[in-house]
Amino acid sequence: MSEPQARPKRAEAQRETHEPVLEVSGLVKHYAAGERGKVVRAVDGVSLTIGEGEVLGLVGESGSGKSTVGKCVLRLTEPTAGRIRLGGRDITHLSRRGMRSLRRDVHIVFQDPYSSLNPRFTVGRIVAEPLVRHGVARRSAAADRVTAMLGKVGLGPETRDRYPHELSGGQRQRVGLARSLILEPKLVVADEPVSALDVSVQASVLNLIADLQRDMGFSCLFITHDLSVVEFLADRIAVMYLGQIVETGPRDRLFAAPEHPYTQALLSAAPVPDPAEQRRRSRVVLGGDPPSPVRPPAGCRFHTRCPVAVDRCRTEPPDLMNRRLNGDHLTACHLVSSDSLPDARGTRA
Ligand code: SF4
Repeated sequence: MSEPQARPKRAEAQRETHEPVLEVSGLVKHYAAGERGKVVRAVDGVSLTIGEGEVLGLVGESGSGKSTVGKCVLRLTEPTAGRIRLGGRDITHLSRRGMRSLRRDVHIVFQDPYSSLNPRFTVGRIVAEPLVRHGVARRSAAADRVTAMLGKVGLGPETRDRYPHELSGGQRQRVGLARSLILEPKLVVADEPVSALDVSVQASVLNLIADLQRDMGFSCLFITHDLSVVEFLADRIAVMYLGQIVETGPRDRLFAAPEHPYTQALLSAAPVPDPAEQRRRSRVVLGGDPPSPVRPPAGCRFHTRCPVAVDRCRTEPPDLMNRRLNGDHLTACHLVSSDSLPDARGTRA
């Protein structure tokens, strides 16, 4: 993937003075598993906020619970516990009618643009559909707005009359973006929006998302398994492991000085453009697969794979807290203290 352009840092003071667009507190989502009485603890106590015009990158391996957080925010699945506020309004238990207005304010960009676009509809009808559904414009009057929105995502007016199967993967994702943004939502949940695309077009779609976000000013929950993707897009990053956030902080600080051994492992695996730097890096190879969310380990959930775990880690869960007194960088690890960091780099699990 060629490198997308780095996103400029946002003024932190601007975020602090505004009410968050999204505020999630103590979110829990448990599912009944196939076996009788078994429960999958997909999300277990996640709290996060996203400010106006801010991009939060939510990162984790498959099964970490990051997509379930996105589904709860969109109310595509019912939270087991916790609270979700959008623009200061509690949306945790919205009625069916309330859900209609929510669908105007929050939109999703799906991972697989092909399966999310109706193959029997033209692009023009697909992109106009949110306008018609929410009574913003009749189908006949929506044409100008659709053409303008297609232009914003880099597609010409002729695309309106084409069908999804006539487009490339990158073009289909642009159509998905146009449909998600035509109502100018407050919040966009982008769930792995480039992972199904060819590597050759990933960077151009990421750059497009960054440009649209800057121009339109929407807030974004950007969900991905790939830390290198959010390095260029996110203002802040939250790293999830087995249903919980283990580290969160401003993008630059988290990339420059990751505190949690899991984040250190993810970063050590991310490719860097400079081959000499790549050779110098010590890679942390984590042993085994993540444990089952049906029976998460006691103590720190990461202890079964952590290269620097100590006895305390097996019994005592660490709180997510600011351990080094450095702004809003929070970590859930017993070994992080104001004067030292665990360093998993150079160790092998
Ligand atoms: Fe590793 Fe212990 Fe820190 Fe968990 S609390 S990340 S097991 S050192």
